[in-house]
Amino acid sequence: MEDRKRILITGAAGFLGSHLCDFFIKKDYHVIAMDNLITGSLKNIEHLFPLENFEFHHHDVSKFIHVSGELDYILHFASPASPIDYLKIPIQTLKVGSLGIHNCLGLAKEKNARVLIASTSEVYGDPEVHPQVEEYWGHVNPVGPRGVYDEAKRFQEAMTMAYHTFHGLETRIIRIFNTYGPRMRLNDGRVLPAFIGQALRGEDLTIFGDGSQTRSFCYVSDLIEGIYRLLLSDYHMPMNVGNPSEISIKDFADEIIELTGTDQKVVYKDLPVNDPKQRRPDITKAREMLKWEPKIDRAEGLKLTYDYFKSLSQDDLLKTEHNNFEKYIKH
Ligand code: UDP
Repeated sequence: MEDRKRILITGAAGFLGSHLCDFFIKKDYHVIAMDNLITGSLKNIEHLFPLENFEFHHHDVSKFIHVSGELDYILHFASPASPIDYLKIPIQTLKVGSLGIHNCLGLAKEKNARVLIASTSEVYGDPEVHPQVEEYWGHVNPVGPRGVYDEAKRFQEAMTMAYHTFHGLETRIIRIFNTYGPRMRLNDGRVLPAFIGQALRGEDLTIFGDGSQTRSFCYVSDLIEGIYRLLLSDYHMPMNVGNPSEISIKDFADEIIELTGTDQKVVYKDLPVNDPKQRRPDITKAREMLKWEPKIDRAEGLKLTYDYFKSLSQDDLLKTEHNNFEKYIKH
Protein backbone atom coordinates (compact mmCIF):
# COMPACT_ATOMS: atom_id res chain seq x y z
CA MET A 1 0.00 0.00 0.00
CA GLU A 2 2.95 2.28 0.74
CA ASP A 3 3.84 2.49 -2.93
CA ARG A 4 0.41 3.74 -3.97
CA LYS A 5 0.44 7.23 -5.49
CA ARG A 6 -1.49 9.66 -3.31
CA ILE A 7 -3.80 12.23 -4.89
CA LEU A 8 -5.93 14.98 -3.35
CA ILE A 9 -9.06 15.85 -5.35
CA THR A 10 -10.97 18.99 -4.35
CA GLY A 11 -14.59 19.22 -5.41
CA ALA A 12 -14.59 15.44 -5.20
CA ALA A 13 -18.35 15.07 -4.68
CA GLY A 14 -19.20 17.09 -7.78
CA PHE A 15 -19.82 15.99 -11.34
CA LEU A 16 -16.22 15.97 -12.57
CA GLY A 17 -14.61 15.41 -9.16
CA SER A 18 -16.55 12.20 -8.58
CA HIS A 19 -15.61 10.80 -12.00
CA LEU A 20 -11.99 11.64 -11.21
CA CYS A 21 -12.25 9.76 -7.91
CA ASP A 22 -13.55 6.69 -9.75
CA PHE A 23 -10.81 6.96 -12.35
CA PHE A 24 -7.92 7.20 -9.88
CA ILE A 25 -9.35 4.50 -7.62
CA LYS A 26 -9.42 2.20 -10.68
CA LYS A 27 -5.76 3.07 -11.26
CA ASP A 28 -5.08 1.99 -7.66
CA TYR A 29 -4.18 5.43 -6.32
CA HIS A 30 -4.88 6.44 -2.74
CA VAL A 31 -7.59 9.08 -3.21
CA ILE A 32 -8.12 11.86 -0.68
CA ALA A 33 -11.42 13.44 -1.59
CA MET A 34 -12.36 16.90 -0.32
CA ASP A 35 -15.65 18.77 -0.69
CA ASN A 36 -17.74 21.23 1.31
CA LEU A 37 -20.90 19.80 -0.30
CA ILE A 38 -22.34 23.19 -1.28
CA THR A 39 -22.98 22.01 -4.83
CA GLY A 40 -21.56 18.47 -4.67
CA SER A 41 -23.44 15.43 -3.41
CA LEU A 42 -22.23 12.48 -1.37
CA LYS A 43 -24.44 10.29 -3.55
CA ASN A 44 -21.80 10.64 -6.28
CA ILE A 45 -19.05 9.05 -4.18
CA GLU A 46 -20.77 6.99 -1.49
CA HIS A 47 -19.90 3.75 -3.32
CA LEU A 48 -16.21 4.54 -2.65
CA PHE A 49 -16.49 4.94 1.12
CA PRO A 50 -15.88 1.25 1.97
CA LEU A 51 -12.57 1.20 0.08
CA GLU A 52 -9.34 1.31 2.07
CA ASN A 53 -7.65 3.52 -0.53
CA PHE A 54 -10.36 6.20 -0.34
CA GLU A 55 -10.86 8.88 2.31
CA PHE A 56 -13.28 11.79 2.42
CA HIS A 57 -12.70 15.15 4.11
CA HIS A 58 -15.76 17.37 4.52
CA HIS A 59 -13.89 20.64 4.24
CA ASP A 60 -14.04 24.01 2.50
CA VAL A 61 -10.85 24.35 0.47
CA SER A 62 -11.07 28.15 0.79
CA LYS A 63 -10.01 27.63 4.43
CA PHE A 64 -6.57 26.31 5.43
CA ILE A 65 -6.12 22.71 4.28
CA HIS A 66 -4.24 20.06 6.19
CA VAL A 67 -3.54 16.63 4.75
CA SER A 68 -1.27 14.25 6.60
CA GLY A 69 1.30 12.08 4.86
CA GLU A 70 2.79 12.41 1.44
CA LEU A 71 1.04 13.75 -1.64
CA ASP A 72 2.01 13.18 -5.26
CA TYR A 73 -0.76 15.11 -6.97
CA ILE A 74 -3.44 17.71 -6.26
CA LEU A 75 -6.38 18.24 -8.61
CA HIS A 76 -8.26 21.46 -7.85
CA PHE A 77 -11.81 20.91 -9.11
CA ALA A 78 -13.78 22.61 -6.37
CA SER A 79 -15.98 25.39 -7.75
CA PRO A 80 -19.56 26.14 -8.58
CA ALA A 81 -19.57 25.65 -12.34
CA SER A 82 -22.89 26.66 -13.84
CA PRO A 83 -24.30 30.13 -14.48
CA ILE A 84 -27.17 29.52 -12.04
CA ASP A 85 -24.76 28.38 -9.31
CA TYR A 86 -22.50 31.36 -9.53
CA LEU A 87 -25.41 33.74 -9.54
CA LYS A 88 -26.65 32.07 -6.36
CA ILE A 89 -23.27 31.88 -4.60
CA PRO A 90 -21.02 34.51 -6.16
CA ILE A 91 -18.74 35.13 -3.17
CA GLN A 92 -17.95 31.43 -2.63
CA THR A 93 -17.24 31.18 -6.37
CA LEU A 94 -14.67 33.96 -6.10
CA LYS A 95 -13.17 32.53 -2.91
CA VAL A 96 -12.66 29.00 -4.16
CA GLY A 97 -10.88 30.24 -7.27
CA SER A 98 -8.60 32.56 -5.29
CA LEU A 99 -8.21 31.54 -1.61
CA GLY A 100 -8.91 27.90 -2.55
CA ILE A 101 -6.15 27.68 -5.14
CA HIS A 102 -3.76 29.55 -2.85
CA ASN A 103 -4.28 26.88 -0.20
CA CYS A 104 -3.82 24.08 -2.75
CA LEU A 105 -0.61 25.61 -4.11
CA GLY A 106 0.74 26.16 -0.60
CA LEU A 107 0.02 22.55 0.28
CA ALA A 108 1.62 21.38 -2.98
CA LYS A 109 4.77 23.36 -2.21
CA GLU A 110 4.93 21.87 1.26
CA LYS A 111 4.44 18.31 -0.05
CA ASN A 112 6.37 18.73 -3.29
CA ALA A 113 3.26 17.63 -5.19
CA ARG A 114 2.23 18.39 -8.76
CA VAL A 115 -0.94 20.50 -9.10
CA LEU A 116 -3.48 20.42 -11.93
CA ILE A 117 -6.14 23.10 -11.92
CA ALA A 118 -9.53 23.00 -13.61
CA SER A 119 -9.71 26.13 -15.68
CA THR A 120 -12.37 26.75 -18.27
CA SER A 121 -13.34 28.03 -21.69
CA GLU A 122 -14.97 30.88 -19.70
CA VAL A 123 -11.52 32.50 -19.53
CA TYR A 124 -12.16 33.36 -23.20
CA GLY A 125 -15.45 35.08 -22.25
CA ASP A 126 -17.67 35.89 -25.26
CA PRO A 127 -14.90 35.05 -27.71
CA GLU A 128 -13.99 37.08 -30.77
CA VAL A 129 -11.56 34.40 -31.96
CA HIS A 130 -13.14 31.20 -33.21
CA PRO A 131 -12.36 28.39 -32.59
CA GLN A 132 -10.60 29.32 -29.37
CA VAL A 133 -6.85 28.73 -29.26
CA GLU A 134 -4.92 28.78 -25.99
CA GLU A 135 -3.02 31.93 -27.04
CA TYR A 136 -6.26 33.98 -27.16
CA TRP A 137 -6.52 36.24 -24.09
CA GLY A 138 -10.28 36.44 -24.07
CA HIS A 139 -13.15 38.92 -23.97
CA VAL A 140 -14.51 38.93 -20.44
CA ASN A 141 -16.74 41.40 -18.61
CA PRO A 142 -15.37 41.45 -15.04
CA VAL A 143 -18.50 43.04 -13.55
CA GLY A 144 -21.16 41.06 -15.44
CA PRO A 145 -23.02 38.12 -13.84
CA ARG A 146 -20.42 35.65 -15.14
CA GLY A 147 -17.51 37.82 -13.93
CA VAL A 148 -17.27 36.09 -10.54
CA TYR A 149 -16.55 32.77 -12.23
CA ASP A 150 -14.55 33.97 -15.20
CA GLU A 151 -12.27 36.24 -13.18
CA ALA A 152 -11.81 33.67 -10.40
CA LYS A 153 -10.65 31.17 -13.00
CA ARG A 154 -8.38 33.72 -14.66
CA PHE A 155 -6.88 34.65 -11.28
CA GLN A 156 -6.45 30.94 -10.57
CA GLU A 157 -4.42 30.52 -13.75
CA ALA A 158 -2.27 33.57 -12.86
CA MET A 159 -1.64 32.33 -9.32
CA THR A 160 -0.78 28.84 -10.56
CA MET A 161 1.64 30.23 -13.11
CA ALA A 162 3.25 32.43 -10.41
CA TYR A 163 3.88 29.37 -8.20
CA HIS A 164 5.37 27.65 -11.22
CA THR A 165 7.74 30.47 -12.15
CA PHE A 166 8.55 31.77 -8.67
CA HIS A 167 8.66 28.53 -6.66
CA GLY A 168 9.39 26.08 -9.48
CA LEU A 169 6.24 24.12 -8.61
CA GLU A 170 5.06 21.49 -11.10
CA THR A 171 1.74 22.79 -12.41
CA ARG A 172 -0.77 21.91 -15.12
CA ILE A 173 -3.67 24.05 -16.37
CA ILE A 174 -6.57 22.51 -18.24
CA ARG A 175 -9.19 24.67 -19.96
CA ILE A 176 -12.35 22.61 -19.91
CA PHE A 177 -15.09 23.22 -22.46
CA ASN A 178 -18.75 22.24 -21.92
CA THR A 179 -18.77 18.69 -20.57
CA TYR A 180 -21.75 16.43 -19.90
CA GLY A 181 -22.59 12.99 -18.61
CA PRO A 182 -24.06 11.09 -15.67
CA ARG A 183 -24.02 12.88 -12.28
CA MET A 184 -24.68 16.33 -13.64
CA ARG A 185 -27.17 17.98 -11.32
CA LEU A 186 -30.65 18.17 -12.76
CA ASN A 187 -31.14 21.63 -11.31
CA ASP A 188 -27.77 23.20 -12.00
CA GLY A 189 -29.28 25.28 -14.81
CA ARG A 190 -26.96 24.01 -17.51
CA VAL A 191 -28.56 23.41 -20.83
CA LEU A 192 -28.35 19.62 -21.00
CA PRO A 193 -29.88 18.76 -17.62
CA ALA A 194 -32.36 21.60 -18.16
CA PHE A 195 -33.60 20.18 -21.48
CA ILE A 196 -33.62 16.53 -20.37
CA GLY A 197 -35.32 17.43 -17.08
CA GLN A 198 -37.96 19.40 -18.95
CA ALA A 199 -38.56 16.53 -21.38
CA LEU A 200 -38.89 14.03 -18.51
CA ARG A 201 -41.32 16.27 -16.61
CA GLY A 202 -43.40 16.95 -19.73
CA GLU A 203 -42.51 20.64 -19.91
CA ASP A 204 -41.54 22.72 -22.91
CA LEU A 205 -37.81 23.13 -23.53
CA THR A 206 -36.61 26.66 -22.73
CA ILE A 207 -34.25 28.12 -25.32
CA PHE A 208 -32.53 31.31 -24.19
CA GLY A 209 -32.23 33.90 -26.95
CA ASP A 210 -32.91 32.74 -30.51
CA GLY A 211 -30.92 29.53 -30.06
CA SER A 212 -28.29 30.48 -32.64
CA GLN A 213 -25.53 30.58 -30.00
CA THR A 214 -23.25 27.56 -30.23
CA ARG A 215 -21.53 25.20 -27.81
CA SER A 216 -19.33 22.10 -28.25
CA PHE A 217 -20.15 19.28 -25.85
CA CYS A 218 -17.61 16.74 -24.59
CA TYR A 219 -18.58 13.45 -22.93
CA VAL A 220 -17.19 13.12 -19.42
CA SER A 221 -15.04 10.00 -19.94
CA ASP A 222 -13.19 11.71 -22.79
CA LEU A 223 -12.48 14.72 -20.60
CA ILE A 224 -11.21 12.58 -17.71
CA GLU A 225 -8.78 10.79 -20.02
CA GLY A 226 -7.54 14.19 -21.23
CA ILE A 227 -7.03 15.37 -17.64
CA TYR A 228 -5.01 12.25 -16.85
CA ARG A 229 -2.80 12.64 -19.89
CA LEU A 230 -2.16 16.31 -19.16
CA LEU A 231 -1.36 15.55 -15.52
CA LEU A 232 1.32 13.05 -16.55
CA SER A 233 2.68 15.24 -19.35
CA ASP A 234 5.47 17.76 -18.92
CA TYR A 235 3.47 20.71 -20.32
CA HIS A 236 2.82 23.58 -17.91
CA MET A 237 1.03 26.09 -20.16
CA PRO A 238 -2.80 26.09 -20.43
CA MET A 239 -4.30 23.38 -22.62
CA ASN A 240 -7.80 23.15 -24.10
CA VAL A 241 -9.60 19.85 -23.70
CA GLY A 242 -13.03 19.52 -25.24
CA ASN A 243 -14.93 18.09 -28.16
CA PRO A 244 -14.77 20.37 -31.21
CA SER A 245 -18.11 19.17 -32.60
CA GLU A 246 -20.10 22.43 -32.48
CA ILE A 247 -23.88 22.76 -32.48
CA SER A 248 -26.38 25.60 -32.06
CA ILE A 249 -28.60 25.46 -28.98
CA LYS A 250 -31.70 25.29 -31.21
CA ASP A 251 -30.34 22.20 -33.00
CA PHE A 252 -29.32 20.77 -29.66
CA ALA A 253 -32.90 21.16 -28.40
CA ASP A 254 -34.11 19.27 -31.50
CA GLU A 255 -31.64 16.46 -30.73
CA ILE A 256 -32.98 16.20 -27.17
CA ILE A 257 -36.58 16.18 -28.41
CA GLU A 258 -35.73 13.31 -30.73
CA LEU A 259 -33.73 11.43 -28.09
CA THR A 260 -36.43 11.65 -25.44
CA GLY A 261 -39.41 11.29 -27.79
CA THR A 262 -41.15 14.12 -25.91
CA ASP A 263 -44.25 15.75 -27.44
CA GLN A 264 -43.26 19.09 -25.95
CA LYS A 265 -42.09 22.00 -28.06
CA VAL A 266 -39.48 24.70 -27.53
CA VAL A 267 -40.25 28.08 -25.99
CA TYR A 268 -37.98 31.10 -26.20
CA LYS A 269 -36.82 33.16 -23.20
CA ASP A 270 -34.48 36.12 -22.80
CA LEU A 271 -30.80 35.45 -23.33
CA PRO A 272 -28.86 35.80 -20.06
CA VAL A 273 -26.45 38.77 -19.90
CA ASN A 274 -23.02 38.15 -21.53
CA ASP A 275 -24.02 34.68 -22.75
CA PRO A 276 -21.22 33.68 -25.18
CA LYS A 277 -22.39 33.58 -28.80
CA GLN A 278 -20.05 30.83 -29.90
CA ARG A 279 -17.69 28.32 -28.37
CA ARG A 280 -15.50 25.62 -29.89
CA PRO A 281 -12.09 24.46 -28.70
CA ASP A 282 -9.08 24.31 -30.93
CA ILE A 283 -7.55 21.04 -29.67
CA THR A 284 -4.44 20.93 -31.84
CA LYS A 285 -2.19 21.01 -28.76
CA ALA A 286 -4.02 18.18 -26.98
CA ARG A 287 -3.97 16.12 -30.18
CA GLU A 288 -0.26 16.62 -30.74
CA MET A 289 1.14 16.66 -27.23
CA LEU A 290 -1.20 14.28 -25.42
CA LYS A 291 -2.20 12.14 -28.42
CA TRP A 292 -5.69 12.79 -27.11
CA GLU A 293 -8.87 12.78 -29.14
CA PRO A 294 -12.51 12.62 -28.02
CA LYS A 295 -13.95 9.15 -28.69
CA ILE A 296 -17.62 9.41 -27.72
CA ASP A 297 -19.79 11.31 -30.17
CA ARG A 298 -22.87 13.24 -29.13
CA ALA A 299 -25.38 10.56 -30.12
CA GLU A 300 -23.68 7.97 -27.91
CA GLY A 301 -22.93 10.35 -25.05
CA LEU A 302 -26.45 11.76 -24.96
CA LYS A 303 -27.93 8.27 -24.83
CA LEU A 304 -25.70 7.32 -21.86
CA THR A 305 -26.61 10.55 -20.09
CA TYR A 306 -30.34 10.18 -20.77
CA ASP A 307 -30.25 6.64 -19.35
CA TYR A 308 -28.74 8.08 -16.16
CA PHE A 309 -31.38 10.81 -15.79
CA LYS A 310 -34.17 8.30 -16.46
CA SER A 311 -32.87 6.16 -13.60
CA LEU A 312 -33.38 9.00 -11.08
CA SER A 313 -36.42 8.88 -8.85
CA GLN A 314 -39.57 10.83 -9.60
CA ASP A 315 -38.78 12.81 -6.44
CA ASP A 316 -35.43 13.95 -7.80
CA LEU A 317 -37.12 15.03 -10.99
CA LEU A 318 -39.94 16.94 -9.33
CA LYS A 319 -37.99 18.82 -6.73
CA THR A 320 -35.93 20.39 -9.48
CA GLU A 321 -36.44 24.09 -9.41
CA HIS A 322 -37.18 25.75 -12.68
CA ASN A 323 -34.52 27.33 -14.70
CA ASN A 324 -34.94 30.97 -13.87
CA PHE A 325 -32.02 33.34 -14.13
CA GLU A 326 -34.10 36.45 -13.53
CA LYS A 327 -34.66 35.38 -9.94
CA TYR A 328 -30.95 35.68 -9.17
CA ILE A 329 -30.06 38.86 -10.98
CA LYS A 330 -30.41 42.01 -8.89
CA HIS A 331 -30.90 44.97 -11.19
N1 UDP B 1 -29.54 27.58 -22.34
C1 UDP B 1 -30.80 27.52 -22.89
N2 UDP B 1 -31.82 27.00 -22.12
C2 UDP B 1 -31.64 26.54 -20.86
C3 UDP B 1 -30.35 26.62 -20.30
C4 UDP B 1 -29.30 27.14 -21.06
O1 UDP B 1 -31.03 27.91 -24.05
O2 UDP B 1 -32.62 26.10 -20.24
C5 UDP B 1 -28.45 28.13 -23.17
C6 UDP B 1 -27.58 29.18 -22.47
O3 UDP B 1 -28.14 30.46 -22.59
C7 UDP B 1 -26.28 29.04 -23.24
C8 UDP B 1 -26.22 27.55 -23.61
O4 UDP B 1 -27.56 27.07 -23.47
O5 UDP B 1 -26.32 29.79 -24.42
C9 UDP B 1 -25.31 26.73 -22.69
O6 UDP B 1 -25.63 27.07 -21.38
P1 UDP B 1 -24.96 26.39 -20.13
O7 UDP B 1 -25.52 27.06 -18.93
O8 UDP B 1 -25.13 24.91 -20.22
O9 UDP B 1 -23.40 26.66 -20.22
P2 UDP B 1 -22.49 27.88 -20.67
O10 UDP B 1 -21.75 27.33 -21.82
O11 UDP B 1 -23.33 29.07 -21.09
O12 UDP B 1 -21.67 28.18 -19.48
